Amino acid sequence: STKQTSSKMDKIVNQVSVGVMTSGGDSPGMNSAIRAVVRETLRRNYRCYLIREGYAGLISGKIDEANWSSVANITHIGGSFIGTSRCDEFRTYDGRKKAAKQMYERQMFNLVVIGGDGSLTGAQKLKEDWMKIGEELFAEGNIKLDVANKGRELRLVGIVGSIDNDCIETDKSIGSDSALHRICESIDGLVMTAQSHQRIFVIEVMGRHCGYLALTSGIAVEADFVFYPEMSLEENWADKLCQQLETVRKLGKRHNIIIIGEGCKNAKGEKFDAKLVKSEIENRMTAEVRTVSLGHLQRGGTPTFLDRLLGLRMGYNAVKELLRVDKDGKPFTGSQNNASVICLRGHTIKQQSLDKVLRKVEQANDEIKHGNVEKATKLRGTGFLDKTEFVAVVSNPLKTEMSSKSKVFAVIHVGLPVAGMNAITFAFTRMANQQNIEIVGIQGAWDGLKNNGVIPLTWKSVEGWAQEGGSLLGAKRQLPSELDQIAQGLNDHNIDGLLIVGGFTAFVSALIMHKNRSEYSSFNIPIVVVPATVSNNCPGTCASIGADTALNEICRQVDNIRQSAIGSKNKVMIIETMGKRSGYLASMVALATGSDYAITYQNVMDKDQVSQLAKKVKTKLEAGKIDKYLIIKSEDTIENVSSASMKSIFEQEFGEKFSVRITNLGYSQFGGHPTCFDRQMGIRMGIRAFEALFNPKKMGKRDCCVIGLRGSRLKYVPVCGLEKKVCMNHFLPLKMWWIETHSLIERLTWKPEDMEEK
Ligand code: ATP
Repeated sequence: STKQTSSKMDKIVNQVSVGVMTSGGDSPGMNSAIRAVVRETLRRNYRCYLIREGYAGLISGKIDEANWSSVANITHIGGSFIGTSRCDEFRTYDGRKKAAKQMYERQMFNLVVIGGDGSLTGAQKLKEDWMKIGEELFAEGNIKLDVANKGRELRLVGIVGSIDNDCIETDKSIGSDSALHRICESIDGLVMTAQSHQRIFVIEVMGRHCGYLALTSGIAVEADFVFYPEMSLEENWADKLCQQLETVRKLGKRHNIIIIGEGCKNAKGEKFDAKLVKSEIENRMTAEVRTVSLGHLQRGGTPTFLDRLLGLRMGYNAVKELLRVDKDGKPFTGSQNNASVICLRGHTIKQQSLDKVLRKVEQANDEIKHGNVEKATKLRGTGFLDKTEFVAVVSNPLKTEMSSKSKVFAVIHVGLPVAGMNAITFAFTRMANQQNIEIVGIQGAWDGLKNNGVIPLTWKSVEGWAQEGGSLLGAKRQLPSELDQIAQGLNDHNIDGLLIVGGFTAFVSALIMHKNRSEYSSFNIPIVVVPATVSNNCPGTCASIGADTALNEICRQVDNIRQSAIGSKNKVMIIETMGKRSGYLASMVALATGSDYAITYQNVMDKDQVSQLAKKVKTKLEAGKIDKYLIIKSEDTIENVSSASMKSIFEQEFGEKFSVRITNLGYSQFGGHPTCFDRQMGIRMGIRAFEALFNPKKMGKRDCCVIGLRGSRLKYVPVCGLEKKVCMNHFLPLKMWWIETHSLIERLTWKPEDMEEK
């Protein structure tokens, strides 16, 4: 039966050509998607075409056949290397007919379109017109019967590439994370000058119909106010805004950041921009107000780790979806051969009907146009709705004077200090301020409780914490020992609830306290763990705070090392990352940087296997098939083989011919200031942690939980249940979602041996 299937497959091989194009506004990460589409298509032995300059190129025939090296060294570059455009001609039937003719000429009946909702609407229209166009082209003698028959079906898959992230059904679109990265970086810079001069900055960000960029960046930069298109603006908005600004100034804040999404309108449907906000403030306050429009800067620059990975996974899955075959070996897309779109839900890639997704987006845009902002917000889903709430927590100075405190909650950082720990603490404290709960910070992990290292945290004292890397409380990789002293410390400070921020150590700390509750009454308080570790090995969650910052930093350094090696030949570079037994960092970085190989504990090698790898690389270098080889290696992975001994195995194999270099990235991997993802996810988790301590019923029966990101949602996962789902020897969860993506590293980097370059 294998033979039968392969003969069926052979038949398809000769028929199938896949075209890939980008359209509409460019977005960082598109190149990763193009690379994955091209390489996965070629790996399956099909033909792949690069359609240049969007629909304009499809109409005019600017279409080139791709080979393996057409997409080499492009993952780290922003924009779209094949060009993109906005093309009015494609909006017309005649324009689409011209495009279809080009496709028939090449027998290219599989298409991947990467773009925003406009581009995908165009693709859907082409799909709808396809049959009619085919019949017309045949009747007019433009195509022959056999070609008309072959092209009866247009198979179409869309990938959402748009910085606006306005496409309902996918948690993220390619480019939105990079745009946020650039927005936060720019605003961080403005905060410094604003503080020096005590200025108010009103900053305009992109997002024609959708407030995603405005809201998310607003949370991450601790903005004082965010205007976004889905918001209903009260008549007295300017008075309220100025009251709020005056209040925070009285609390000691020296600057204010106000963010406004470009698509904002007032209740009368009139355009509402930064200049208007500035003049309304100036009419009411004596303050220096400046406006800044970040404009196209937001689209520019290197793609972030998340966008590279998203592009790669979406591109790979688009080809998988496009070239799916049924049990008879016939190609199809979905049961009715509908066009589909590749979406992300949590960490899972899913495909949805393109038509359905587009109808939802159109509905949301219509609701905004007609001023039905609540309906539009609802359509965008709970994640979006949550952001509107989080923005208020970040900026709202609700309680200026505390009445007598009802409870005291403590926060402690355990494990290595990672970016985002402060953001969690910031949000936790600001939430408490609104509920009249006192927050204390325990300095220097568990030792702080024993050595009187407990300090009050207030609305003002945590200002600016979301932007700061490391741990401002002081963190240590330390488990609770001398439990009687710890119990005494909790008693002394009347602690009624505990937030533990950290990685696997934080989880085990909570477990120890949970297990010793019968012996120490002060452990009988609600406990919440917020996962924060670069290794992403905390159980109960798909994502940990701090890992995204580390991944971006490592990608940046790997890009630099790669660039420094341009022009030099015959080199093997081994770059060592953190992570101990968790290969998360190494695997993810190898994927996002297009490195040749990743060595982790999960794909452990012995000396013989390293030697085999060295032989394989030597053969390729000698044949001139490659000029360098880049290995990302997780520390502490290979049994009895350190990076140094790995180097010497390679050197033994190479002799004098080729050189081997090791770079250990060390502590620089922690990455300084947290990324937008780590800030806003940290804030989100900090808020949910507070809510759980404030109302432990939210955690269900168990009041000792990890806050885990499961799919797109945060869940409270009981610590005692997780004990069975981890390997205590290696500090690892038994299941890790990312392991299945590891195979893509070689799949998309290494050209199959027998593939000829055309
Ligand atoms: P971005 O999110 O960056 O704005 P987009 O894909 O939404 O990207 P648009 O300018 O809306 O950008 O659309 C890009 C192109 O897609 C248009 O120039 C046009 O060629 C095509 N297109 C858009 N809408 C339609 C439509 N209704 N019918 C046919 N083609 C369309």
